[in-house]
Amino acid sequence: MIKKLLSILLIFSLIPVAWGVGVQQVKAETSGKKQLEDVRDQKKQSETEMEKIEDLKVETQKELGKIETDITNLDKQIAELNKKIAANQKHVDKHEKVLSEHLRRMYVHDSGTYLSHMLNSDSFSQFLERFEIVRLLMKEQADVFNKYLDMKHSLEKNKKDLEAKKKAQAELLKKSEAKVKEINAKLAKYKDQLDQLEAKERNLLQKYAGAFGGGGGILAFPSTRGTVYWNYGQNRGSHIHAGIDIPRPVGTPIFAAESGVVQSIRSDPNGYGIYVIIRHNNGLSTLYAHMYRYQVIVGAGQRVSRGQQIASVGNNGRSSGPHLHFEVHKNGSPVNPRSYLQ
Ligand SMILES: [Zn+2]
Repeated sequence: MIKKLLSILLIFSLIPVAWGVGVQQVKAETSGKKQLEDVRDQKKQSETEMEKIEDLKVETQKELGKIETDITNLDKQIAELNKKIAANQKHVDKHEKVLSEHLRRMYVHDSGTYLSHMLNSDSFSQFLERFEIVRLLMKEQADVFNKYLDMKHSLEKNKKDLEAKKKAQAELLKKSEAKVKEINAKLAKYKDQLDQLEAKERNLLQKYAGAFGGGGGILAFPSTRGTVYWNYGQNRGSHIHAGIDIPRPVGTPIFAAESGVVQSIRSDPNGYGIYVIIRHNNGLSTLYAHMYRYQVIVGAGQRVSRGQQIASVGNNGRSSGPHLHFEVHKNGSPVNPRSYLQ
């Protein structure tokens, strides 16, 4: 009797404990789910920020390239001007010499020069005539000399202007280079942040494995919700079906099942049609098949976020109707997507 009573007491005292544990577990799972959502929100923010910075980097690098081209062009123009200046200087020197020779002859030497020539004239009118000729000759020489002198000054001014322009461009170049450096530092910072968030996400997924519905929920569903043929491993005679099929109308969005980098976009006309492989940070890759080329809206090497649209459902390759063929690879081998999908 006492034994029976004791066992009844024991049962009743255990029930609330077990019940309490259950409540606590649900609470933990709810808070885990909330934490996971927070981490994913933060990840999305980091990724958006990184995309913005990447865009800025592309712009700045374009600017940098333009400035470098400008400087090369200015250098060419300066070299050309230097050639012209040198050629002109030859003319200046030559005419300067001729002119000074005339002057020297006129004023220093008396014999056999213009002056003596003029003074030896037979008549005053002849003197005047000769004087006029000499005057004109001198003037012509002086005009030519002045023309080259003017050109010399204008060429030198042009060169100065170009050099000032080059200096300004060099300063711009320095600024652009500093900007790119700054952008790279920012990108590295966000990359670190993203890596940390992804590690956090993985930890949460491991800690609460199984609690987030559909077998762990490591991957997001890759299209709109609806019918799924869970036909992974099906024997197709010539091959084993390596993924699952998600029948959807052509044009239905296909989403990245997880953040990652587009590893490849390939064509397999007798099989997968156009297909995309995304590599994720957690040792997983995902494959999306049967699209047409025009439906793929990401490029190889592009970073994509979980849930981001990457393509649309097609009916290309060996396909019996519009559908998304979806595979999950772990360390390079196909695994059953069912254990990973949310
Ligand atoms: Zn398939």
